[in-house]
Amino acid sequence: MEKMRVVQVVRPNGPLEIVERKIPEPGTGSVRIKVRACGICHSDSVTKEGTWPGIEYPRVPGHEVAGAIDAVGSGVAGWKEGQRVGVGWHGGHCGYCESCRRGDFVTCQVAPQIPGIAYDGGYAEYMIAPAGALAAIPEGLSAVDAGPLMCAGVTTFNSLRNSGARPGDLVAILGVGGLGHLGIQFAAKMGFRAVAIARGTDKEPLAKTLGAWAYIDSKTQDPSMELLKLGGAKVVLATVTSGQAMGAVLGGLVVGGKLIILGAATEPLGVAGIPLILGRRSIMGWPSGSSIDSQDTLSFSLLTGVRAMSEIFPLERAAEAYDHMKSGKARFRAVLTAGG
Ligand SMILES: [Zn+2]
Ligand SMILES: [Zn+2]
Repeated sequence: MEKMRVVQVVRPNGPLEIVERKIPEPGTGSVRIKVRACGICHSDSVTKEGTWPGIEYPRVPGHEVAGAIDAVGSGVAGWKEGQRVGVGWHGGHCGYCESCRRGDFVTCQVAPQIPGIAYDGGYAEYMIAPAGALAAIPEGLSAVDAGPLMCAGVTTFNSLRNSGARPGDLVAILGVGGLGHLGIQFAAKMGFRAVAIARGTDKEPLAKTLGAWAYIDSKTQDPSMELLKLGGAKVVLATVTSGQAMGAVLGGLVVGGKLIILGAATEPLGVAGIPLILGRRSIMGWPSGSSIDSQDTLSFSLLTGVRAMSEIFPLERAAEAYDHMKSGKARFRAVLTAGG
């Protein structure tokens, strides 16, 4: 019997432990992926800490998966063995709910099928995924580069390209971390005047290297005032988790401007209604994208040279890599690698 190594959690707040399991067979409509790389996302904490309602254990985390199809289940059309693929937050959809019938798969109303939460994910040598969740990885993009683009990448790329901002518009990225360092690159490559906002000045040189046209230190400057001095922001992409930091940029939006929330705020957002009303400003969230959006992210990244800055860890050091991510010390994504 062929065995594989996986990193699992057996209970809420339990350790990430490496164990051997039988290599699973893909069922109808699914494929087996030989995982090469899997990014560690902040959202993996819902599996580690047991905060996702109804999550069942043991569970293998991981939804920034890159590898190759190793076996194809029955009833799968359009994918073949050996093809390089990724799987992200969108790990499948029902096909019959109202969202799915409108072609909006990532907002499927029937039990979201998120890898690493609803079923075993990519902290493993092999995983099973529904064919509808697959994104083709273009030749020329490595698995280590593709992995983080499957969640952090598609979330920033897809929210920006659907934000309504047009080339030349001022688009601010709030936070220069795992999401933010990708957001700056995408915004610059899409032809926006990308403004990076972070606390302190130590991230300024990096933000500029990533393509930021301007930098605002929110520790010593009022980010709203500074944005207005630059002409005001059409869009602010909030990648931080502080509701207060998000509230502090609202005054920097132009008429019709949008604050798009990507970071799960840990505190409520205090908002004055009048500026929203008078300037037709809005606040919205954005949930990554479906598998074809992920594929578009990979293609665009290959085309333009956008890459996550990643620290690489072998699968057996998953616990250390996860702690490194949680500590905020990772610059900027931690990626697990498995196999050759
Ligand atoms: Zn994620
Ligand atoms: Zn659905």
